[in-house]
Amino acid sequence: MTAVDAGRAAPQTADAVAGLDESVRPRSLDDFIGQNDLRANLRVYLDAARERGRALDHTLFYGNPGLGKTTLARIMASELGVNLVCTSGPVLERSGDLAAILTNLARHDILFVDEIHRMPIAVEEVLYPAMEDFKLDLVIGQGPAARTVKIDLEPFTLVGATTRMGLISSPLRDRFGIVARLEYYSPQDLARVVTRTAHILGVEITSGGAEEIGRRSRGTPRIANRLLRRVRDFALVHGNGLVTDSEAVAALNRMDVDEQGLDQMDRKLLEVLIQHYEGGPVGIKTLAAACSEEVRTIEDIYEPYLIQCGFLKRTPRGRMATSKAYRHLGLLG
Ligand code: ADP
Repeated sequence: MTAVDAGRAAPQTADAVAGLDESVRPRSLDDFIGQNDLRANLRVYLDAARERGRALDHTLFYGNPGLGKTTLARIMASELGVNLVCTSGPVLERSGDLAAILTNLARHDILFVDEIHRMPIAVEEVLYPAMEDFKLDLVIGQGPAARTVKIDLEPFTLVGATTRMGLISSPLRDRFGIVARLEYYSPQDLARVVTRTAHILGVEITSGGAEEIGRRSRGTPRIANRLLRRVRDFALVHGNGLVTDSEAVAALNRMDVDEQGLDQMDRKLLEVLIQHYEGGPVGIKTLAAACSEEVRTIEDIYEPYLIQCGFLKRTPRGRMATSKAYRHLGLLG
């Protein structure tokens, strides 16, 4: 398999920029930890596509950042022995951008579109016939002289990834044969992710150390990998390099990651909500302004985990802190 980058949105972390995400990314379905039901189903779909000699059905993955959507797209291409072409919704500004990529795909290739909910509608419309009939309707010229040319495409698989299922239009959603949600990982699965990554990076870690990092990683493998690297730094400088549970606790406390995995920004969000707005309800825009953070970052990164842990509630009138949040921060409810 070869992976071609057809223009991608900016990676989300400094570690990703340094290419560190790549070195620890699982390469096969057997290497992929957790998400057991999804993994078992994908195994069946991949085997069936191979057996029938057909392109795999178009697949849509949704779930929070860092849960493994890109990783699964790469694994699918590698398991099928086809090329993976990567792009992302915001990069595809004009329909011609997508047409150029589609016409260059070889038989059964996988086109991965990250943040597919951010694709402009004009580009999305080019996708409909391409997904349905492997045909491209190109409009050449303008005004009365404009004419439509149909171009045949090789059968391909579109793999879309999104953090916002609600923003995907229903005509687009309906054209995916496989729609799968990635869930937050259990602390046990994250401890396995940490152990695996430590092995690849040559970091010595005890099972207690891996469990401590797993517990504080907000259910997210990308965060688990990032925390492991930082804890390793502390263990190297302050200890003998071995990451034990007490090394992990000390390092994570110094990084301001608490025992629930909340970081400074999570706590600030809850504190602002409780101390400035009596626990809410508060509109998301007001909350974002009060925390000097972007609405999208709060909605995509912070809020889902705070809701999952039961610290925050979304109500029709705005966000509210729960009594669990008051208790966690040691504030009076
Ligand atoms: P997304 O595309 O959902 O934002 P990625 O697929 O880029 O997330 O995953 C982020 C990182 O987390 C990857 O580099 C990979 O190393 C790690 N990762 C994700 N899912 C798993 C998993 N199930 N097992 C092991 N590592 C994983």
